[in-house]
Amino acid sequence: MADRDLLIIGAGISGLSMAHYAAAAGLNALVLEREDRVGGCLHSHRFGEPNGFWLELGAHSGFNSYGNLLAILERVGLLDRLQRRAKVGFRMFAGGAVKSIPSQLHFPALALAPFRMLGLIKTGRTVADYYGHIVGRRNYTAVFEPAFNAVICQPAGEFPADSLFQPRPRRKDAPRSFTLPGGLQTIADTLAGPTGIPVELGRNAREIRRDGEGFVVRTDRGEYSARALCLATPVAAATELLRVPFPDIAGRLAEIETARVESVGIALPAARLPLPPVAGLIGRDESFYSAVSRDTVPDAHWRGFTFHFRPGVLGEEEKVERIAQVLGIDRALLESGHMAFKLNQLPVLRVGHSERAEVLNPALAGNRLALIGNYFSGVAIEDCVTRSRAEFERLRREGL
Ligand SMILES: Cc1cc2nc3c(=O)[nH]c(=O)nc-3n(C[C@H](O)[C@H](O)[C@H](O)COP(=O)(O)OP(=O)(O)OC[C@H]3O[C@@H](n4cnc5c(N)ncnc54)[C@H](O)[C@@H]3O)c2cc1C
Repeated sequence: MADRDLLIIGAGISGLSMAHYAAAAGLNALVLEREDRVGGCLHSHRFGEPNGFWLELGAHSGFNSYGNLLAILERVGLLDRLQRRAKVGFRMFAGGAVKSIPSQLHFPALALAPFRMLGLIKTGRTVADYYGHIVGRRNYTAVFEPAFNAVICQPAGEFPADSLFQPRPRRKDAPRSFTLPGGLQTIADTLAGPTGIPVELGRNAREIRRDGEGFVVRTDRGEYSARALCLATPVAAATELLRVPFPDIAGRLAEIETARVESVGIALPAARLPLPPVAGLIGRDESFYSAVSRDTVPDAHWRGFTFHFRPGVLGEEEKVERIAQVLGIDRALLESGHMAFKLNQLPVLRVGHSERAEVLNPALAGNRLALIGNYFSGVAIEDCVTRSRAEFERLRREGL
């Protein structure tokens, strides 16, 4: 007899949204998380007292087009706490200097963009092909390619154009771009809070076994059983866990590569920073894709930046050195107590990805096994929640 209705592996937004749907339906669900914190890529690092400052080491923005996420936030009482992000612009960091984006654009080529868009279909095209055609090669290389790299924290050229900026209806009762007091981590903390979903931290899932019609999950700290199982980990971890019990599914997942991002967050006394307020810096021909700023949620005393570095280019010391150079400050200002490091992972999507991912659905059907995460229709938070909702509804139809 299984202990629970549903076990969920991974406490990022995918796993927590799945658990939220399960709890709302009265099911007995448990989330197992490898780390000692919930949130995964929702990771607002809090520096603690005396400054109480926080910054985002992963995702930084939600949007009023995130309908499924907003519906969850409404149910857990967070809708009224959404905080509008201040409008400050992005700048480029290229050739060793901060530059305005317009100064890097070739406007005659851009003027033709509306005409070049006519009849152009996104599906089946790469980002480089689709947007390069619209804005012209020169603008694409100088501005748009680095900007897209910054958006998805990996080289964007071969990414499917239809996975970026998916059109969705907007809710008028939410800010167009939002965060929460304490950052997006507050979403995860609330979902997994004392009155929310049960989550066991420090539970690294090592092995999955079938047990009759149910499942057993072995972790470093004991075994758990359930009638149904949901994998909400990055794709590489899901591949490993499914290799023995579901080799066909694991074989398909193994085709999806993982991009690593070496992220470094720093907090600085605001008065010491010469750079005017910015939403972030976009790196062109640089060791970092972007430096995302906390100026979108201004603080009277502190400013913060998270540099998302390309993997394997700079060591830790070199990164800190580069951050000081880019921000135009003395290296000595960057104290270790005001720094945070994180290794982020994102799937590498390619043209035809959503169609290939669709093929997984028939293989999952009837097994009481759900697969969720950011490797289906797109990597945005809303893509994750949408996938969770669809998989939860499928499990229900299959008798959970
Ligand atoms: C730098 C960065 C910036 C981003 N910015 C935005 C943004 O502004 N807006 C937006 O919409 N999206 C953004 N995204 C994308 C979005 O944040 C992610 O795609 C999404 O949060 C992924 O959620 P997830 O739950 O699927 O996976 P994750 O957040 O990766 O969570 C997976 C969880 O599974 C756990 N886990 C892994 N293996 C095991 C195991 N064996 N046993 C137990 N637990 C395990 C992990 O520890 C982790 O907690 C950004 C992503 C990054 C990296």
